[in-house]
Amino acid sequence: MAKQRTRSKVKLTEKREHSFFGDVLKYFDHAAQFLDHDPALMEQIKYCNSVYRMRFPVKNDEGNIEVIEAYRVEHSHHRQPTKGGIRYSIHVEQDEVMALAALMTYKCALVDVPFGGAKGGIKVSPRLCSVSMLERITRRYTTELVKKNFIGPGIDVPAPDYGSGEREMAWMADTYATFYPTDLNSIACVTGKPISHGGISGRREATGLGVFYGVRHACSYKEDMDKLGLEVGLEGKRIAIQGMGNVGYWAAKFFHDGGAKIIAVSEWDGSIYKEDGINPDELLKYKQETNGILGFPGSVDLEGGPGAALEVECDILIPAALENQVNSDNAHNIKCKILAEAANGPVTPEAEQVLLKKGVLLIPDIFINAGGVSVSYFEWLKNLSHVRFGRMEKRYRATMNRNILDAIETASGTKVGEESLGLINKGADERDLVYSGLEETMINAYDNIRNRMMETKGIEDLRTAAFVEAIDKVAISYQHLGIWP
Ligand code: GLU
Repeated sequence: MAKQRTRSKVKLTEKREHSFFGDVLKYFDHAAQFLDHDPALMEQIKYCNSVYRMRFPVKNDEGNIEVIEAYRVEHSHHRQPTKGGIRYSIHVEQDEVMALAALMTYKCALVDVPFGGAKGGIKVSPRLCSVSMLERITRRYTTELVKKNFIGPGIDVPAPDYGSGEREMAWMADTYATFYPTDLNSIACVTGKPISHGGISGRREATGLGVFYGVRHACSYKEDMDKLGLEVGLEGKRIAIQGMGNVGYWAAKFFHDGGAKIIAVSEWDGSIYKEDGINPDELLKYKQETNGILGFPGSVDLEGGPGAALEVECDILIPAALENQVNSDNAHNIKCKILAEAANGPVTPEAEQVLLKKGVLLIPDIFINAGGVSVSYFEWLKNLSHVRFGRMEKRYRATMNRNILDAIETASGTKVGEESLGLINKGADERDLVYSGLEETMINAYDNIRNRMMETKGIEDLRTAAFVEAIDKVAISYQHLGIWP
């Protein structure tokens, strides 16, 4: 493949030409035919309950006023609080935020997280903004949410999304707390906070780790792997990833550590390829130093820009950037056997049809990227209980395990080896519990979706099965509220 040194056009930030929310409605309508709920109930679930579009003034670094456009959409109130991230991007628009809010409802239902779906968006480019400007925007946005009752531990709980992270969540929590200084639970008004400010161990890597657990479990079904001509397990599987942001990096790291090979990666500046595998930690370091990935030592730069990594021949393709990346323009060129939607909406419905015809196992976003919100739920629980997971029992368990071990060693007359000792002679800390809770969540949800697909005549793909499963759960929850019979 030819070497290409020039930085290519940025496909990752191209504007959508069609409606993302329209795509979600299409998936909904397709799934609805497999369910038998009251049409009025289905209509209640389908559309967004509350759409808050705001504009507020913020003084920029030069002292001039800029008017910022922002959104918060609450899609479903069948459970409260509602939950979902806040996207910081110059391409934020109402249609996109509505689509993402709806996906959150289905995502939460699939992983049994007791929240309704919501999403926020601020139309700003974080790359082009100073930190102090970002802070002023974030604090003012939070104030606007407080004014209209769109934030609170029992109302609506934002989290990070594309372009935002722990820092923004800390600003939000702090702003919220100034309005409710005596509310003991105020810290639970957002998740994805720094650990020093009420966050939880494992939240940062949660979405990538969830992708890893979900795909690893999907690869454990022999009959499914046989159909794809793949071996069971992850060992040696060739993986291509679009995006080295928080989700892409952590997914790459867990797959690499789990025995798979990351053969291609793309970022805003282009795509790179390395047949014997890219080390994600070295690539991240290189990206931080050079602000891009092109020229990464030992790899070749691919022709075709950021979209090129999507088109390499691989076993597992992981789009981990934005929506609309695999569409009718490039779907015919996709050469993977499994596609895991780590981003929200990376494959359009038209592209999906092409991939399904090719026999690709498509693992949908509303399941595979639900690790983030699952661990957000753990963080929210931690905040409301005001105690770190593992604090009460960690030492007790370690001592118990030590006592059991001593008894076995005495009875058998043999000593346990150093390595096993390290594994047994400990209690679970917060990270251990978060990882284990997330693993259980992803395995359980995948099995529910897969069973739904196997048991329902006419459903042949995981997305349809996931939508049917999620909508059914939301509908049943509404019925339990007593509004629908
Ligand atoms: N923004 C993430 C998502 O799309 C996380 C949401 C959350 O933790 O509430 O799932």
